[in-house]
Amino acid sequence: MKQSFQLLWALQQLDTELRTLTEKLSRIPSRVDDLKKAAAAIKADLNQAKSDIIEHKKQYKLCEVELKGTEEKVAGYSVQLYSAKTNEQYKAFLKEIEGQKKQKASIEDRMIVLMEETEALDRKVKENEKESAELDSETTRKVEMLEAEKKEIEAAIATRQQQRETTAAAIPAELLKRYERVRASKGGIAVATVRKERCSGCLSPIPAQRILEVERQDHLYLCEACGRILIVAQE
Ligand SMILES: [Zn+2]
Repeated sequence: MKQSFQLLWALQQLDTELRTLTEKLSRIPSRVDDLKKAAAAIKADLNQAKSDIIEHKKQYKLCEVELKGTEEKVAGYSVQLYSAKTNEQYKAFLKEIEGQKKQKASIEDRMIVLMEETEALDRKVKENEKESAELDSETTRKVEMLEAEKKEIEAAIATRQQQRETTAAAIPAELLKRYERVRASKGGIAVATVRKERCSGCLSPIPAQRILEVERQDHLYLCEACGRILIVAQE
């Protein structure tokens, strides 16, 4: 019986380790995903800034064409101004010139804004390009580490599963069945130790008489509060 309890304890340790390892393994894909998403977000931001620069330069070119148009119109009206035959005509040409000059000024203002914005975008691209490249290599490195960690965990799981099989095979069938039943209903922990006169599983106090009985290790006792298999602390 004593040996069976030791095996049960070993089995419990293995199952606890297996659960921890399995949980760790299951978190790896989302950790990889998060890393890749963060790198992709920076890259998307960078690409947006690059296409904004192209758009700004296009707009600037259009402004140059418009500006030239207004300048030509001003020049044209200025020539016509001298050939005006009536005062009304003269005034009309002046008004046209005034209008074109106003338009020219507003185009120039827009060009200044576009230029300033383009410069700011250029700076942003320069900074982000460095950051993005660094993040990219860092992400690659971290993902590789996670892949390695995944392999290690998978290997550890395989080893423990093998150990579990061997251990389980050495436990009497009835006891093993009970272990599995309690484990399934008690959040994966079927075996509890007596620590400081309490059940390590649910922390309920264990009567002194029961502690003595458990310590004899000749009979199976369950915690009366939580139903876990009680064994002597194995430290
Ligand atoms: Zn208990």
